[in-house]
Amino acid sequence: MTKRNYATVNPCVMCQPMGSALAFKGIENTMVLYHGSQGCSTYMRLLLAHHFREPVDIASSSLSEKGAVYGGRENLKKGLRNVINRYNPKVIGVATTCLAETIGDDVPAIIREFKEEQEIGDDPEKDIIIIPVSTPSYGESHVSGYIKALDAVVRKFTEKTEEEKTVKIPNGKLNVIPVESLSPADVRELKEIFDVMAGDYIFLPDISETFDAPLREDLPKIAPGGTPLSEIADMPNSRASLGLGTVSKNLAVKYLEESYGVHGYDVPIPIGLSNTDIFFTELVKIIGCPIPEKYQKERGRLLDAMVDVHKYLYGVKAAVYGDPDFVFSLTTFMLELGINPVLIATGSKSRDFETKIRQIVEKTNPELEPVVLNGIDFDTFNDAVSQCNPEILIGNSNGRYIAKSRNIPLVRVGLPIHDRVGAQRILNIGYRGAMELLDRITNTILEATDTFTAPRQAEPAAYTEKRSEEECVEGLR
Ligand code: SF4
Repeated sequence: MTKRNYATVNPCVMCQPMGSALAFKGIENTMVLYHGSQGCSTYMRLLLAHHFREPVDIASSSLSEKGAVYGGRENLKKGLRNVINRYNPKVIGVATTCLAETIGDDVPAIIREFKEEQEIGDDPEKDIIIIPVSTPSYGESHVSGYIKALDAVVRKFTEKTEEEKTVKIPNGKLNVIPVESLSPADVRELKEIFDVMAGDYIFLPDISETFDAPLREDLPKIAPGGTPLSEIADMPNSRASLGLGTVSKNLAVKYLEESYGVHGYDVPIPIGLSNTDIFFTELVKIIGCPIPEKYQKERGRLLDAMVDVHKYLYGVKAAVYGDPDFVFSLTTFMLELGINPVLIATGSKSRDFETKIRQIVEKTNPELEPVVLNGIDFDTFNDAVSQCNPEILIGNSNGRYIAKSRNIPLVRVGLPIHDRVGAQRILNIGYRGAMELLDRITNTILEATDTFTAPRQAEPAAYTEKRSEEECVEGLR
């Protein structure tokens, strides 16, 4: 925050309950209900619908002034009844917003009361499972909302007594639990890799279909797809868990390890060469099978592409921003490409972000002294851009005003991308994703260079108005 601001100006994060929706929407037959005012759910539905270009239903308990004064118990119960009647879900994720947390509603107690009144039990086979998550936005961001929701889901579906915990029926599967910044295309790419290499695995949450569904005549109330509930319940029996992301704490991976002894391996999001190498190396270690030739060839192609574009990218100054883990992996890739990330920022408050970024910069390009910012808003980011003078911005759509006002190109990655189409199909993961990202960045730089140098270049006569000889000579200078 700058000295002139007493509050956040143009936040660089999204609301905490939105993160919970990202997680819940990747679970089979699940509906989300926000306990709070209507505006919260409208804003977050709109944001997700613009990003994924899919209808995103999120219910609201619609607290009004009366609810804010006397408590939202009745509103929440009514909301739950409506969701059950209209959507017939197997799971309802109830995330709180700022208002519900400020008035201090005891959401787990209200849900218990509601279940008693409606005679809803706790058997996932026949009962509706209602999972509360505390997500006030003034506390943290969408990053923690996502992590908390996944943790709550895993805890709920694997609830066992101490005695039951000792009985394990190994399923030979691998749990895969990524952080929040993946696109449906990324998830599809990862699933393809696991299909080839890991045999059986459980991917949580699976947004590959729910946030990027094929067009159909009958629009189902809840998008088909998502991680099956029976698989989530089976996670304690898996051989290991692979968490994608090392900056934010992956609570679900930690819980499965501490409560059920399922060993957790955390690797960075596989964006770029070295991060994808780490991902495959860890996978080989867990699974014990070699890296298929297909991916070895893809790695070779990526190296070839990196050599091809090195002359365009070397020394280009970039500002990278977004979610902590995503920015960490992007920064690693930028350094591999010879780009100088002079400004690296995240809007989320992350304890380990700066340390991890400084470690990777020290390892790859020790002479670079980037500005690293944590928990900032776009106002502060704008000041840092003035100070660092990057030639390109790499991050989500919300940096577009800065890019525009300063005439710097912006490569859109991460979440949200609401001013362009295709966010659900952007692939950043694996060697193939790295190649696509590399092409986007290089072409953006080439385009910007072209635009910048165009007035000094001679254009083919057929494309230009007839000019005098003097004007043509002048144009060539
Ligand atoms: S900041 Fe709080 S009140 Fe505002 S939209 Fe987000 S959750 Fe709702």
